[in-house]
Amino acid sequence: MKEDKLNRPEWVPEQAGESEGFTTNVMSGIKSRHDGMPGGHSATVLHRPATRRPELSIDEYVDGVLSGNRAVLARAITLVESNADRHQDLAQEMLTRLLPYAGSAIRVGITGVPGAGKSSIIETLGLKLCDMGHRLAVLAVDPSSSVTGGSVLGDKTRMEMLSRNKSAFIRPSPSGGVLGGVARKSRETMIVCEAAGFDVIIVETVGVGQSEITVRSMVDMFLLLQIAGAGDELQGIKKGVMERCDLIVVNKADGDNLLRANAARADYERILHYLQPSTEGWVTKALACSAYTGDGIDELWATIEDFRKNATASGVFNRRRQQQNLDWVHNLVNEYMRRTFYSNPNVRINLPILQNLVTSGKLSPTAAAKQLFSYYEGHAE
Ligand code: GDP
Repeated sequence: MKEDKLNRPEWVPEQAGESEGFTTNVMSGIKSRHDGMPGGHSATVLHRPATRRPELSIDEYVDGVLSGNRAVLARAITLVESNADRHQDLAQEMLTRLLPYAGSAIRVGITGVPGAGKSSIIETLGLKLCDMGHRLAVLAVDPSSSVTGGSVLGDKTRMEMLSRNKSAFIRPSPSGGVLGGVARKSRETMIVCEAAGFDVIIVETVGVGQSEITVRSMVDMFLLLQIAGAGDELQGIKKGVMERCDLIVVNKADGDNLLRANAARADYERILHYLQPSTEGWVTKALACSAYTGDGIDELWATIEDFRKNATASGVFNRRRQQQNLDWVHNLVNEYMRRTFYSNPNVRINLPILQNLVTSGKLSPTAAAKQLFSYYEGHAE
């Protein structure tokens, strides 16, 4: 403890004595890491020597996915999710070859606040679908994983029974990067899953800001999961979200909550009358169901099928997918251009200078933007 005495703070309470009675012991600095490993905080995590799996060839990826091999499917998705340039090239080649086999699934998005019962509903519906002979892939788009590094959708044991079912495949949200990057990966994962024979794709997201719009732009039908009595504010229920969804599902319609859930369903149905439907030719409905008892789950699936039949017959289904693909192209171009622009060395050097000039009122934002573009194009004075 000699060393600790040396570390006594400059100021100590009067009766602190030498050591007794002084509750705050100041310790010397920790020389090893908290986990007992050598090195400071910034030390890189020591990895066990990796038992490297041999890389798959493009043919092995494509054949494995098409034959429904789950291990290869998982690796193909990991490839799609990788940010390494080398992997991205390979992933794009694989996707080009898988694309002709994709597209026949129904893509359903589900949003709702944490606790609304998204995973419970997906589990109950999913198990039913597996029994009916469907194959279901569940993907998550979790904006929190890119903002806070934590995950709202993935940090608990979810859909336990479904995850053990051979006809189901559950993939948590890809981590890292901005929502746009997470969404790209999920879109491509969807294609891989479809090529592997999954005929129902559920994309789940938490009802937070942009993520709903992002998921809406990658699915055929969009479901909003609600619970009765949680207060509209809490559930973030805005006109915008209701106008983006094709079906409102009031969950937890069981036990003491049954009457309230049914009343909430009727309320939503009434409000929907005054809103613009999300899909041309389809009247947005409200259902009540229970993930616990299974009540209303058959009706939920029947409504999804009904939607598909309707939208296919009217041509809306295909038009929406075509438009989604075009929008996706433009999003990727925008994203690519943004990255190219801001990583340009001329832009990087001059950006802080121009920002200063703008904040100090010496240069207008428009002039600054124009100047940045000249730097980008390499011919600024
Ligand atoms: P998520 O965060 O939206 O995925 O919600 P969860 O599926 O994790 O459910 C949140 C909580 O609501 C859990 O405690 C569930 O057990 C409960 N829950 C989910 N569905 C129902 C239901 O149909 N009835 C009742 N009574 N509780 C439910």
